[in-house]
Amino acid sequence: MALIVQKYGGSSVADAASILRVARRIVETVAAGNQVVVVVSAMGDTTDDLIDLAQQVSAAPAPREYDMLLTSGERISMALLAMAIHDLGFEGRSFTGSQAGLITDSQHGAARIVEVTPVRVQEALADGAIPIIAGFQGFSRETKDITTLGRGGSDTTAVALAVALAADMCEIYTDVDGVFSADPRLVPAARQLPRLEYEEMLEFAAAGAKVLHLRCVEYARRAALALFVRSSFSQHPGTAITSRARMEEEGHAMEQPIIAGVAVDLSDAKVTITSVPDEPGRAAAIFEALAGADVNIDMIVQNVSAKTTGRTDVTFTCPTGSVATARAALESSRDRIGFDELLHDEHIAKVSLIGAGMKQHPGVSATFFSALAHAGVNVELISTSEIRISVVTRAETAQQAAQAVHTAFGLDASGEAVVYAGSGR
Ligand code: ADP
Ligand code: ASP
Ligand code: MG
Repeated sequence: MALIVQKYGGSSVADAASILRVARRIVETVAAGNQVVVVVSAMGDTTDDLIDLAQQVSAAPAPREYDMLLTSGERISMALLAMAIHDLGFEGRSFTGSQAGLITDSQHGAARIVEVTPVRVQEALADGAIPIIAGFQGFSRETKDITTLGRGGSDTTAVALAVALAADMCEIYTDVDGVFSADPRLVPAARQLPRLEYEEMLEFAAAGAKVLHLRCVEYARRAALALFVRSSFSQHPGTAITSRARMEEEGHAMEQPIIAGVAVDLSDAKVTITSVPDEPGRAAAIFEALAGADVNIDMIVQNVSAKTTGRTDVTFTCPTGSVATARAALESSRDRIGFDELLHDEHIAKVSLIGAGMKQHPGVSATFFSALAHAGVNVELISTSEIRISVVTRAETAQQAAQAVHTAFGLDASGEAVVYAGSGR
């Protein structure tokens, strides 16, 4: 008997018919002799709708109340799913994140899990019930308040529970047949990937492929948890996220392609600080100011300083939602930094190429940049890691760039990828 944590995303439980379909899948897994713990997201676009609603009543919603509001989405789906399971002759027992023992720090909107004590989940399993846990939420012991883990955080709830329960595997059910070589909504010729190394998946998630929450991949890697991405709309085996060592053991390492795929991120903006004195301490002043305001920085570029003035421009990217905070933080350190102007641009995209094989294979950058050049895509910033190359381009050219790079690396599949549901919102 295996213990399986199954997470169903918003598009898998978007309406009553979908909830009934998911209930049947869960019950089938239990009937086959497994113990199943379920994590659910809010139905369809509920979380986005709640955000829209909050913005209609408040320009800057109070963080505590915002989390209280958003966590209600998952409570609806967990209770409905439990009811549907009852009607199939099994006991579904729903729990909020707090009841399931997901203890977080107190940072509303981006809380981190500090402890998981799933006592009630274990009791439910011992009683032969199917525990259904609301994803994306936790409880802070410090403030005694309800928190959320950040958008897409239900994946992390599922992995955290799987690790705490020492589950045999964690399955993330979504609206596509696994992880693809690119977002199938942007690149229809995207190819389904049977397996990926944790490191590649981490880069994919960090580069904007929202199919998995970044923190869930980190969590799974640390615990060497067997993680699968599957569709709740098909019986496709999906994508296994695993370690290099396990791939080698299973004899799959040799077949791994050099390049796993391409990711596009439209959620960042670019900020340029002009005419900063090129001397020790100025970069520290910039990034200390930003860190003090909790602004997450991604790429950083410093131009060569102009010989005549000894001054330079510094550019960085951060989430679009943090631009106002970043600007205010930099303004308040204007004297320490000594800049001339602050400019920002929200119409950018980050296009990334990911593949563990690029470490050993020369020529990858040449193919990447010549594909962009042929597609007429202008590169504004570049950053790399051992297994990723990212560029910033105009947002309007991102899809074109992703498709060109995908083709240049021979990743195009012969057919079109299937997207079963979801609005892609
Ligand atoms: P869920 O609601 O199930 O959590 P998400 O919308 O968060 O689903 O994630 C699934 C979506 O991720 C897909 O519909 C797809 O558009 C998008 N996506 C982006 N990059 C990829 C990729 N490389 N492979 C698969 N899906 C991707
Ligand atoms: N419902 C939340 C969101 O839309 C969490 C999740 O789906 O993972 O971000
Ligand atoms: Mg998701």
